[in-house]
Amino acid sequence: MRFLFHRRQATRAHLAQALRIRKSAITDLCNRLIADQTLREANPERQRNVLLQLNPDRFVAIGLQHAERGVCGVRVRADLSCEGETFYPLAENLTGAARLDAIADCARRYVRVAASKQQRIGVGFCDIGMVDAVRGYSIRAAAVPGWENLPVRDRLKTATGLPVELLMHTDSLCLAEKTHGAAKAMEAFIFIQVGRRIGLSVFLNGGFLRGNTNFFGELGHTVVAPAGDICKCGNRGCLETVASTDAVVRKVRDHLTPGSPATAALTDGVVTIDTVLTAARQGNKLARLALEEAALAVGNAAAFIINILGIDNLVLGGKLTEAGDLFLDPVRGAVARNCVHPVSENVTVCLGQMGEYGSATGAALAVLQAHFAER
Ligand SMILES: [Zn+2]
Repeated sequence: MRFLFHRRQATRAHLAQALRIRKSAITDLCNRLIADQTLREANPERQRNVLLQLNPDRFVAIGLQHAERGVCGVRVRADLSCEGETFYPLAENLTGAARLDAIADCARRYVRVAASKQQRIGVGFCDIGMVDAVRGYSIRAAAVPGWENLPVRDRLKTATGLPVELLMHTDSLCLAEKTHGAAKAMEAFIFIQVGRRIGLSVFLNGGFLRGNTNFFGELGHTVVAPAGDICKCGNRGCLETVASTDAVVRKVRDHLTPGSPATAALTDGVVTIDTVLTAARQGNKLARLALEEAALAVGNAAAFIINILGIDNLVLGGKLTEAGDLFLDPVRGAVARNCVHPVSENVTVCLGQMGEYGSATGAALAVLQAHFAER
């Protein structure tokens, strides 16, 4: 099953060769698996070279994404098709254990409507902040005060009665980009997500690069400006103080000057990241400069990683990439300037392609991977 999950389709002869078993034995085995709905024939009308695949109606993974305003849900079948996008809003200012209870209730409701009991294989939960994926706990989230040290995985297991994979937002989105998005054809790539937090994932040798601790990818809390602002992590000058959406909004607000044309376009209401992005697209100089400075900082940080790892594909995701070329071009420039030759000649920098449900999709894909890893 693991072989078929990764290869999607194979003939009986191909399976016999890959698994090193006799053709007659593979025929018996496949017939049994077809009879119990585990496998199905992809092209049954053919007499020869009939392709087998995992039955997509039999295996459904549920992906959930914890967002600031609610929970996004999507289901992904064994053929990796995605459907059933649903959003459950959460009450404003809900924090801590009460928020976890509300999320568990959303998970329970979505699991029921997304798939039958026989189809469900597990839940992937992409959390909003730092997680300890080994212990299954939240650590903290800048966007949700009080989201600290909560037993997220066990609570969701109890609510849904299913195995639960707990993932970081960036890893989920990275997996979705690899499967359905910009990184489909890339064997190795660096993924940086730039939103309220700045996260890093590195995809290499068919999986995520990991260290010997439970943590990875805290690019946002690497110090890039030692004399800069104090960060919410307690350190000074982290990348998030320079290049996160909060940093971009703060920079614009701090430089509003009554009477200037750049300010006039931005003061019609409250300055948010959406108004900054809109103003930048319309040519507003202040908004463009704030975005460009954030992009340069991200590009400089990315160049360090590219130089160290020697991976020459960089995919960018997250809120700031909604600025398109206004964000991409300065990142490309900084990467080209700061990567060592000859790596600098070959680096590909591109924007991710996954939409609003990308992280939920990635969380469900992680469930499918885990489910078939041992089968
Ligand atoms: Zn920090």
